[in-house]
Amino acid sequence: MLDANFLKEKNARSVWHPMAHPADSINNPPKIVTGGQGVKITDVDGHEVIDGVGGLWNVNLGYSCDPIKEAIKNQLDQLPYYSIFRGTSNDVIIELSEELRAFFKPDGLSRAFYTSGGSDSVETALRLSRQYHKVKGNSGKTKFLSLKYGYHGTHIGAASVNGNAKFRTAYEPLLPGCHHTPSPYEYRNPFNETDPAKLAQLCLNALEAEIAFQGASTIAAMIIEPILGAGGVIVPHESFVPGIRDICTRNNILLITDEVITAFGRTGAWSGSRLWGIKPDFMCTAKAITNGYFPFGAVMISDEVAETFENDTTGLANIGHGYTYSGHPVGAAAALACLKETQRLNVKDNAKARGKQLHEGLLELQKSFDVIGNIRGGHGLMCAAELVSNRETKKPIDKPTIATISKVAYESGAMIRVSGNNIILSPPLVISEGEITTVLAALKAGLSSA
Ligand code: PMP
Repeated sequence: MLDANFLKEKNARSVWHPMAHPADSINNPPKIVTGGQGVKITDVDGHEVIDGVGGLWNVNLGYSCDPIKEAIKNQLDQLPYYSIFRGTSNDVIIELSEELRAFFKPDGLSRAFYTSGGSDSVETALRLSRQYHKVKGNSGKTKFLSLKYGYHGTHIGAASVNGNAKFRTAYEPLLPGCHHTPSPYEYRNPFNETDPAKLAQLCLNALEAEIAFQGASTIAAMIIEPILGAGGVIVPHESFVPGIRDICTRNNILLITDEVITAFGRTGAWSGSRLWGIKPDFMCTAKAITNGYFPFGAVMISDEVAETFENDTTGLANIGHGYTYSGHPVGAAAALACLKETQRLNVKDNAKARGKQLHEGLLELQKSFDVIGNIRGGHGLMCAAELVSNRETKKPIDKPTIATISKVAYESGAMIRVSGNNIILSPPLVISEGEITTVLAALKAGLSSA
């Protein structure tokens, strides 16, 4: 490793950080992370903390998953790269596809299209949705629906279906024909409705109205996160996602579940679709598919959609889409080992138990700290605390205060994520009871300093 003083001096001088103002990264230099073991990370000063963020919702198995590391090393020796564009394949991608088919069988998904990450997966699902309708002879079905507050990544396609202005405005104009409907966000919604079941129904009514307005014959697909992640862990009522499935089916609109966060156990179920008991037409995965150790993703495809493509004899189903790194053998080897470990450790059950502990601990903190306006979670290891400066007006907390809370929490032993006025917690799914207690204690120390 280069000298710590050198790193600190050069930090952010030549790097532009995603999701940051370049000047802010110079004035408030980012923490330099240099090591990871178990569920902990170490910074350049040797300060070790529990990673309450789990990398970026992706390091589900922690930083010491040797089988994945071994698989990557071995694959680099065997075949470090070859493409799977028409005419070639590789052994590991075939093996992985069979494993994914078995894993996602309960979701009704059997074929995989490979990508290098979440945004790529979203782009793929959006494109293939349009193509599906063209193959079926419905070439007018091209629009996309999505939820306000949803996050789907950063390609122009993904940004166009994103439901948060901060990821959109600077990059407009975005793709035409993308329309957003209300989210079941109990704390803030245009209906002033706090009852989850009633709010879900109002949002579904708004969706039906939007479809009627646009015309179902113009809409290709709707994309949703089963639990909205980056938008602040918005957890819908159990009737909501099944309601969307039903509306999409009735209107011949494909349903894409964006499970870049929720696939592979984070919600306490193996997928968000399974959590809510629905079957999507496409499912976008990435992140935890390799535990974050290799940039990789897979779009899982339903039998019906797959057969529509496979049975086409007109040529319309020729796929003119794919990435150099689609089906990368090292990514495939990492994913194979990761899937095996994910299932061997049955991480979904620990996510459920520790998620309950974390959620209950946050609700307890809310009793003592007025700045906590709303706690969200209750399904696995994805929770948020929305901070406000005034509980009556719900005015979001100011940036310096939330930054201080996060700084003190870090000094007290836990990395937490600040997103707007939310603190988001998404630790590795292998985290222990004692470690969750430490995360809560560190957050408490942070809140006490505010
Ligand atoms: N979809 C969802 C639900 C995500 O949370 C993310 C990333 N946080 C993405 C898509 C984009 O993934 P990536 O950053 O790997 O492109």
